[in-house]
Amino acid sequence: MRNFNELSPPQRILLGPGPSTVHPRVYRALATPIIGHLDPEFLQIMDELQEMLRWLFGTTNRLTFAVSGTGSAGMEAAFVNIVEPGDTVIVGVNGVFGNRMLDVVRRCGATAVPVEAQWGHRLDIQKIEDALKRNKPVKAVALVHAETSTGVLQPMTDVGALCKKYGALLVADTVTSLAGLPVLVDEWQIDVCYSGTQKCLSCPPGLAPITFSEQALAIAQSRKTKIQSWYLDVTMIANYWSNSSRAYHHTAPISMNYALREALRLVSEEGLKERFRRHARNSAILIENLLQLGLEPLVHEDVRLPCLNAIQVPRHVDEAKIRRRLLQEYNIEIGGGLGNLAGKIWRIGLMGESSSKANVVYLVSALRELLNS
Ligand SMILES: *Cc1c(COP(=O)(O)O)cnc(C)c1O
Repeated sequence: MRNFNELSPPQRILLGPGPSTVHPRVYRALATPIIGHLDPEFLQIMDELQEMLRWLFGTTNRLTFAVSGTGSAGMEAAFVNIVEPGDTVIVGVNGVFGNRMLDVVRRCGATAVPVEAQWGHRLDIQKIEDALKRNKPVKAVALVHAETSTGVLQPMTDVGALCKKYGALLVADTVTSLAGLPVLVDEWQIDVCYSGTQKCLSCPPGLAPITFSEQALAIAQSRKTKIQSWYLDVTMIANYWSNSSRAYHHTAPISMNYALREALRLVSEEGLKERFRRHARNSAILIENLLQLGLEPLVHEDVRLPCLNAIQVPRHVDEAKIRRRLLQEYNIEIGGGLGNLAGKIWRIGLMGESSSKANVVYLVSALRELLNS
């Protein structure tokens, strides 16, 4: 083999849709020594992680842990466990991640019923109720709380009660909201809620925090058919994470669990209220400054995500060229549009450690220079 240089990636300012900036303490946690995954010291770390995740998710669910895999593994884990062939699942679709849920549900052999809204808008709860009425019995309703492809926040307060009324479980994707916005699993009556480490938690990609209600777990345990995925089978994973049995299932990615533990400690030190306030404040400063440059947000203020700001690209501007120059000349990464919105928006992530006034001021001045040149 030829010689390769030692790894030395640039230090970017990460203001895209994820991953976000990683705190030095989290990098240090990644570099601490590996121990065995059944070592009593590691088992204690798993217990601590579960306790911290229950706090962050706002839940008392016993089965709360981190799936070994990125946010998409969390999505897959949510559906493969509760959805069987022949089931019907209603999926809210107003962006890329709603579409990904549709795909996962169909791969489980279930009928997926999309309830749609225009990209950049939230879903109408009345349409969800209509679909629940029309498709009885419905196994689950699945919604993306923070749609990263469009920057829309889906209000979650009334959906849980609606699902209970029709005997359906509620599944929520909180990959981009957890640790950036309130996520109240028990209060909102969410049955399965998953997230990812690389967005507002400011960890590297690699784990997917997830929580299952007792009812969701009971459904996974009493299925007619075997759970399609061996790796993501929560009935087996529950034994590994529960402090009574600790049965070997797979080797937990030790270093990533260390990293998540440290990231959660940072969230706790800052406090949730202050952390949410910081995300809101920096987004408001960004929008205010971009308006002065003549750049308009895509999403109505009422449902605009502070952690992912979708900005309309003016007609005469080559959006990809601006993004390329931001990266090459200013070391800043932002995202482009996906699907229907490709070429039409920029996606500016202000997630976790990336959400700072300094980053906003730097990005705005870079954009001002590029747009005027
Ligand atoms: C990023 C994201 C995912 C997928 O997470 P990966 O870490 O890329 O696998 C799923 N849902 C939403 C809303 C996301 O933003």
